[in-house]
Amino acid sequence: MTMTTLQEMPQVQGCSASSCSYNAEEACHAGAITIGGDHAHCGTFVEISFRSGLDRTGVVGACHRSDCTHNESLECTAASVQVGSADDKADCLTYSAR
Ligand code: SF4
Repeated sequence: MTMTTLQEMPQVQGCSASSCSYNAEEACHAGAITIGGDHAHCGTFVEISFRSGLDRTGVVGACHRSDCTHNESLECTAASVQVGSADDKADCLTYSAR
């Protein structure tokens, strides 16, 4: 079993969910996001009354969409992902059905 290191985790290249507390100027500042649910929903999306997060771009920490071509062992192997509104306010737009 090959382990993915934190450095190899795909960056959230852009996120248009500007109402999320981790979002600043269409960039994700969560340490790592989790994608899951029945439509590649960003499970880290949250609307709290203040802005938060880290001074760096977030990565995909885990992804439960095993039916995505980029998914391997419940981890994302894409070079980077885009998050934005699809079925929901914050979904992985890089999702591609096998
Ligand atoms: S590209 Fe696919 S594997 Fe990667 S986070 Fe999006 S849905 Fe998950």
